[in-house]
Amino acid sequence: MTAFWTEPDFDDHEIVQVVRDRASGLTAIIAVHSTHLGPGAGGTRFWHYPDPKDGLRDALRLSRGMSYKNAMAGLPMGGGKAVILADEGRTKTPDMLTAFGDAVEGLGGRYVTAEDVGIGEADMVEVAGRTAHVSGLPVSGEGNAGGDPGPFTARGIYLGIKAAVKHRLKTDSMKDVHVAVQGTGSVGGGVARLLAKDGARLTLADIDKHGVEKLAQEIGAEVVAPDEVLGVQCDVLSPNALGAILNEETIAKLKAQIVAGGANNQLARARHGKLLFEQGALYAPDYVINAGGIISVATEYLARRDSREADVSDVHALIDQIPGRLETIWRASEADGIAPDIVADTMAQELIGRG
Ligand code: NAD
Repeated sequence: MTAFWTEPDFDDHEIVQVVRDRASGLTAIIAVHSTHLGPGAGGTRFWHYPDPKDGLRDALRLSRGMSYKNAMAGLPMGGGKAVILADEGRTKTPDMLTAFGDAVEGLGGRYVTAEDVGIGEADMVEVAGRTAHVSGLPVSGEGNAGGDPGPFTARGIYLGIKAAVKHRLKTDSMKDVHVAVQGTGSVGGGVARLLAKDGARLTLADIDKHGVEKLAQEIGAEVVAPDEVLGVQCDVLSPNALGAILNEETIAKLKAQIVAGGANNQLARARHGKLLFEQGALYAPDYVINAGGIISVATEYLARRDSREADVSDVHALIDQIPGRLETIWRASEADGIAPDIVADTMAQELIGRG
């Protein structure tokens, strides 16, 4: 039998822990990819996986992604991720979260958790009853860092889109620049509102028909069907819904010159970054442009750990560095003829001591 840690997804993870608690019925996987730069930080996903192996794969891939994201955001944090394997009915109880908190505490600060898909602020408060290695807790006072990371993620993407437009379209103004936004939830909705204020022309798509129509009316945007948005004739495509949306078929349909959005793992496979590059589209590597949320979460955690309050302006100052990082990546990509996602991966690997 081949050792499972030689499989590509394992990628030399420092810790992969399976947590079982019979009393509460909790089954979870905590994966810590790297603590080279600091505690492995990344949220907890609560999801039903018909095959638990997919839960392990998700934990490993997401945790490595957090190592890269945190390193490229200039944070003193490593990368980790947890997955709670939900049953078919997605039963979530306070006892499960308590047992999960005990498991996080057991790692002694090598893993720091926060919200992810299926886990909200109230759940994190429950986990925080058992361990201090938690972030994404309610804001402790006006002007302090913390709370929902979505608006911070949206701000970083908005700044990243402006940087891409300046780089490729050679303009500082977003007026009449046409942006198609896929997914108008917490992140995509925030990006669309910010761009609308700058006079951008917006086309929106979401499977939530009612929600997207309401937003479109509010900001004066057009709406297209979810299966049409990737092929809209526009300047920028901003994917803010699902991962793995860029593949041979969708890249062939793409008319945008720029792809810059918040969804994690937008490239279905590594080769699709190269395909985009060869087609002449400027791609903003997802984990670089969407780091605003983790910047907020990490700033909050580090302040609480050191018994001080972090100001929301500290978070904004770090988010303001995202465009410069993207510019560095695009310049290196063009100078060396290498796709931007590969440039970013190489930079991140060097930062975490695995270059
Ligand atoms: P969300 O649930 O608030 O919004 C997602 C939106 O996408 C929803 O409105 C949903 O209806 C829509 N959607 C789902 N499938 C769709 C489809 N096929 N076509 C069009 N729309 C579709 O989630 P979010 O917090 O806005 O996160 C969006 C993406 O950004 C996710 O990939 C997430 O992993 C990533 N992300 C989020 C954050 C954050 O701070 N929230 C940080 C980094 C990355």
